[in-house]
Amino acid sequence: MIYSVAIDGPSGSGKSTIADRLAKRLGLVHIDTGAMYRAVTLLALEKGIDPKNEVKVDALLDDCVIELTVEGKVFLNGEDVTTKIRSNEVSDAVSYVSTYKQVREFLVAKQREMSKSLSVVMDGRDIGTVVLPNADVKIYQVASVEKRAERRFKENTEKGLSTSYEDCLNNLKKRDLIDSSRAISPLRPASDSIIIDTSDLSIDEVVSECEKIIAEQLKEKNIK
Ligand code: C5P
Repeated sequence: MIYSVAIDGPSGSGKSTIADRLAKRLGLVHIDTGAMYRAVTLLALEKGIDPKNEVKVDALLDDCVIELTVEGKVFLNGEDVTTKIRSNEVSDAVSYVSTYKQVREFLVAKQREMSKSLSVVMDGRDIGTVVLPNADVKIYQVASVEKRAERRFKENTEKGLSTSYEDCLNNLKKRDLIDSSRAISPLRPASDSIIIDTSDLSIDEVVSECEKIIAEQLKEKNIK
């Protein structure tokens, strides 16, 4: 039987890393929805379009083909943009682009389509509330903004991206504010989600906590 796991939470709470590990351990397909918003943002920047110009960004959607591979790569119109979508420029602009109604409708439709015939773990901001309101398991991860900035800084350094800790902290604070105060699909836990504070937990600890929650929920719902 196929099933779906939704993981939501603020930027840098470790959702993608955890979702990726869970996917490998449980044989699920990982759908990183943040990567999709980042890909649309990259397209705007590469076309010289101001990400704050909603009409012009919307017009790009007709020529925007995004593919996520099982190996975790992201392709935009046939080009591998896995690293490019993590740049500072994209991180700074993505929260504007993700407030646009047409962008959200376009990506949400794709995300739902991807989860139709496969067991998935999907991470984002609105998965449990909007994209998959009937997800079998809903997890909401939180962590202090300082801890999240530390993690993002380490991640970027490992990827060879030059950002300071302060850059990461300021970017996360800005994105938290925009993501949680936007009119459409604001960041918030679904009423039936299970909240995990990952501030003082290692990745392995969060993964095993999530595995426990998934096993319990599937058992409760009689999903085998
Ligand atoms: O998860 P990540 O930090 O890569 O997401 C980048 C941005 O994409 C977020 O700050 C948010 O503005 C947007 N996003 C969203 N809804 C999602 C996933 C990401 O609005 N489901």
